Amino acid sequence: MGLLEQKRHFSVNLLDWYMVNRRDLPWRRHNNPYFTWVSEIMLQQTRVDTVIPYFNRFIGNFPTVQALAEAPEEEVLKNWEGLGYYSRARNLQAAARQVMELHGGEMPQDKQAVFALKGVGPYTAGAILSIAFNQPQPAVDGNVMRVLSRYFLIDEDIMKGSTRVLMEELAGELIPEGRARDFNQALMELGALVCTPKAPHCLTCPVMEQCSGRIAGRELTLPVKTKAKPPRPEQRLVAIVEGRGAHRGRVLVRQRPATGLLARMWELPHVLAAPAAAGKAAGPLADEPAMALLAGSLWAEGFAARPEGLATHAEHVFSHIVWSLQVYKCTEQDQSNELPLIAAEARAAYDAQAAGKDHSSSASAASELATTHSEQFHSVTSLLSNPSEDADLLDESPVAYDAQLTLTGKGDGLTYRWIGPEDMDKMAFPNIFLKLISSYFAGAYDDVNE
Ligand code: SF4
Repeated sequence: MGLLEQKRHFSVNLLDWYMVNRRDLPWRRHNNPYFTWVSEIMLQQTRVDTVIPYFNRFIGNFPTVQALAEAPEEEVLKNWEGLGYYSRARNLQAAARQVMELHGGEMPQDKQAVFALKGVGPYTAGAILSIAFNQPQPAVDGNVMRVLSRYFLIDEDIMKGSTRVLMEELAGELIPEGRARDFNQALMELGALVCTPKAPHCLTCPVMEQCSGRIAGRELTLPVKTKAKPPRPEQRLVAIVEGRGAHRGRVLVRQRPATGLLARMWELPHVLAAPAAAGKAAGPLADEPAMALLAGSLWAEGFAARPEGLATHAEHVFSHIVWSLQVYKCTEQDQSNELPLIAAEARAAYDAQAAGKDHSSSASAASELATTHSEQFHSVTSLLSNPSEDADLLDESPVAYDAQLTLTGKGDGLTYRWIGPEDMDKMAFPNIFLKLISSYFAGAYDDVNE
């Protein structure tokens, strides 16, 4: 069996199989470049079954490039809520605006122009050009590299850029003339349904007869892939601050900064309790110091709140960080009320700074305060030593905040507001906070310290 014959076998049998076995997916029903583009962005890091309802809702709400370009960002994020990797949604909208401005609202068909769209990498560009316009462009992602590694018995590490280049060349050579649209989808479909990562279904595979990996018994050891760095664990303390007086029935949320992780999404206030020591996961903090630290950090952010008790533990996994969350129910306090010691001391340290002492002296005051109680209080120190402009409070608040005390976490310029259950439909939250706040409004933490 020569290489040419092996390639021909692959292309012909794969296409035949796909034409009979292709799944009926919503983005395949119309030959609409915008639909292809949205589906490919959603499918990055996400399973087809998960994407289908999101895709249908997204296209229902933003049926055209223009509708997406003109929508408020908050609405776009709301429609993405739960899918994760929110920068995809922001980039998609930014790219829709590029398409409006530079291409009159029509998806470009030129490779360089597609590649220039925000959030579009080589895989997505290849997928759009081949699926939407039937151009013979390879679309190589991890699934495709797995299939090709196995079929052609390629021992190169698929994490290397040079391997991707090799795979793209190979995938391009395999596309039968005039059949790029079907062939690339066939290759993706084989990786998703048959040549799966852990248990490939070789016996029902349409290309099994000439699969070098299977013949060599290597289907389970290919592809070669160096392990990615494990995500960094972080222990975080989260506050569900229950409002009182004019805020009764509402909880405090803040909006994340305009750039970085989960940019512009809403969340419960939280603070880093302890980073992981080298080679060791950060462990949970005992409740007493955890609550003191939380009260202090809220105070440094401009809010007086008393932690009442542990509501729940939760975990949120990002590609590069794992948050282990200790979630405390807190109640809003009047400024005149006695606050937990750490909060009062945090204020004293801040007052010293606000009174005109230089950064280093107030930072060292905060540092002293931190070391007095526990080394875990370093986050308060960092909050206190990074004052920035006042927080932009969207809600009129009857609480007499000292304007100078509305410090914001690490100088990020955060925005805060009090929300009720009715606001949940309008604001975009990362999944973990959506679950925590919904559970709170459903009464799941009613008995904390009652
Ligand atoms: S025969 Fe097995 S290893 Fe080879 S392509 Fe098919 S499913 Fe993958």
